Amino acid sequence: MRVLLADDDPVSRHILRETLVRWGFEVTTAADGLEAWELLQAENAPRLAILDWMMPGMDGVEVCRKVRDNTSGPYIYILLLTSKKERDDIVRGMAAGADDYVSKPFDPQELQMRLKAGKRIVDLQARLLRAQEELQHMATHDNLSGLYNRFAILEVLSRELNRANREELSTSVIVADIDHFKKINDTLGHIAGDAILREVARRLRTNIRAYDAVGRYGGEEFLVVLPNCREAGARETAERLRRAISEFPVELAEGTVRVTLSFGVTTCRPLSSEHLEAVIRTADAALYRAKAMGRNCVVAAAGVSRSTSAGLETV
Ligand SMILES: [Mg+2]
Repeated sequence: MRVLLADDDPVSRHILRETLVRWGFEVTTAADGLEAWELLQAENAPRLAILDWMMPGMDGVEVCRKVRDNTSGPYIYILLLTSKKERDDIVRGMAAGADDYVSKPFDPQELQMRLKAGKRIVDLQARLLRAQEELQHMATHDNLSGLYNRFAILEVLSRELNRANREELSTSVIVADIDHFKKINDTLGHIAGDAILREVARRLRTNIRAYDAVGRYGGEEFLVVLPNCREAGARETAERLRRAISEFPVELAEGTVRVTLSFGVTTCRPLSSEHLEAVIRTADAALYRAKAMGRNCVVAAAGVSRSTSAGLETV
């Protein structure tokens, strides 16, 4: 584990550094408070810090206060090094945000135990953060396909519509539906059906721009949001997605399956999120037309704009 050691006294810094290295820590040193504060602000800063109380420029207590004021980033566990004189004032150090303190000259065993306690807290926090990220991922992603779930992709669309409205840009939306998916499930079984959903999802994801988003909108229906994308670009993208799936059959244990999707595309000129339903309805109507035209094709609806979204007619 990495630890930051800040002490203005070179001799005491050297001794403590050697001790920490012997205990297996990776040590970064600072010769004063200002240097310590700079190191602690860096990306990937050590999560464990030993700060001498008395240092020129910025003392350890001040560094503590600054670290605690800066609430972004992971938690930094701080141990203050105090001389006998400052010990009476330890309340001030703890009030500034120190987690613990060790008196100088330090007792190695005591310091080692206190560092262990600090490491436990840092590890625990890292685990909690990971768990929180996993929960966040689970709440916004579809378990089977790994894509955004319906809730999350609608959030993306809502955000993008508002952004496009502010910046006077076009947003395009593609809805895509696997053709005859029920037949696939009925003839090959649901396990094969799931494998096809995953493979279609993978091809959709890998054939869009980095700033586009794709989600599983329904059972075998997907929604692609293309920010800052006009009609021609959206039709091109849908056509690329269509080919990426129809031209390469899916290899399954059950055999080789040719899968196709039908696509409905719509482009919204600057439009806010209050028109979200109209946008989806328009793309859906285009999708139904694609189905009616024999499937495995792309149909673009007339775009949705501020003037038409209120009394939107189905295409
Ligand atoms: Mg000092």
